[in-house]
Amino acid sequence: MPRAVIAPIALLPEGWAEQVLIEFGRDGRITRVEAGAAKSGDADHCQGPVLPGMPNLHSHAFQRAMAGLAEVALNPEDSFWTWRDLMYRLVGRLTPEQVEDIARYLYIDMLKGGYTAVAEFHYLHHGLDGKPYADPAEMSRRVLRAAERAGIGITLLPVLYAHGGFGGKAPSDAQKRFINTTDQYLKLQESLAKDCAAPGRRLGFCFHSLRAVTGDEIKSVMGSADDDRPVHVHIAEQQKEVADCLAWSGRRPIQWLYDHVPVDERWCLIHATHAEPDEVAAMAKSRAVAGLCPTTEANLGDGLFPAIDFVADGGRLGIGSDSHVSLSVVEELRWLEYGQRLKHERRNRLHDANKHVAGYLYRASLQGGAQALGQKMGAIAVGNRADLVVLDGQHPLLAHVSGDDILGRWLFAGLNRMVKDVMVGGEWVVQDGRHGDEIEAGRAFAAAVKAAI
Ligand code: ZN
Repeated sequence: MPRAVIAPIALLPEGWAEQVLIEFGRDGRITRVEAGAAKSGDADHCQGPVLPGMPNLHSHAFQRAMAGLAEVALNPEDSFWTWRDLMYRLVGRLTPEQVEDIARYLYIDMLKGGYTAVAEFHYLHHGLDGKPYADPAEMSRRVLRAAERAGIGITLLPVLYAHGGFGGKAPSDAQKRFINTTDQYLKLQESLAKDCAAPGRRLGFCFHSLRAVTGDEIKSVMGSADDDRPVHVHIAEQQKEVADCLAWSGRRPIQWLYDHVPVDERWCLIHATHAEPDEVAAMAKSRAVAGLCPTTEANLGDGLFPAIDFVADGGRLGIGSDSHVSLSVVEELRWLEYGQRLKHERRNRLHDANKHVAGYLYRASLQGGAQALGQKMGAIAVGNRADLVVLDGQHPLLAHVSGDDILGRWLFAGLNRMVKDVMVGGEWVVQDGRHGDEIEAGRAFAAAVKAAI
């Protein structure tokens, strides 16, 4: 017998619907969606509006250990680059056990914030001495195990990080745990293929940035597999990165990428903060996803992605929590819109023809996120994984509102605590705001961070 839930109101691809029956099979995939369904004793009756779970398209799990601890003005020129020095200090100490404990609790917090799958941009590969572990995929497997224990879907993106700067510059000592040759990288991919074939998992290619790989390396990795796996890259996050790329090649990072690589819908360009109008147009035309991480980009003082022009060009976008200063769908989407309002001194900047900002932001991020993760999710539809977020139907702010105003209340006036229940692949992982493993996982996280910091 398939299992089922009934939603009093649910966000479906065709719009909001009432009394929606959602059935799913043992594999966690939705087998039937029917509006106007009768009550059923066999189904779980949700106690609030039901939304598709949000994909988190950008995470560096270990960075959660230092979130909130770099907010001290010790350097008048404090920037991404000085933050990176602190991050490298943490990198110099973390063990595989600690990484698993940090990721496991992080992923629980993600679920509680409304994310049901994560793209883990994973570049911490090697031992403290920079040498590969006996199993070179040790760290990757720790991250996969953390996701499994938390109950979150994952697209694992093992990162190729081969150099320390544009043009194949030698890496620094602080980067030694990240570094692989293309051959080592392809072997790592091969050894993880089977692990990532399990339900709720996907494997993707990932290039740290144009600072860390050459054009030839990108080509040899891309030529190694003839499939539709996702491809992620950090790009144009910082002005210094743009200036260094110009000095090296005469082209800006996004220009350089589009000049040298056939970028298509498999690609997710993380940040793309410093994009000129021709770069924005090229990104939109290529159907690649802009992977935006507004709370991290604000925290690091990166700058603002030209989202209004990108949206006007039909660009695809999604959200990620990146350095994990926030684990909240609300905060990422709110600050994505607020950044544009503050910059342009106007309200209601990001929307489609329906004009509803929260409705647009949520739907666009579902679609872009699902595309970036390469997973069948992001919509309550037959064949997709049963990933659901149930908002608190008893919350006074959600009383007497319907349709996209539900999203408006949550995203612009609500907080994480409006997330009541979360389902991933047909299993409830958060119920009444709590995850079954959060206390034990929290203790393990605290012990890991105490030992590492
Ligand atoms: Zn990142």
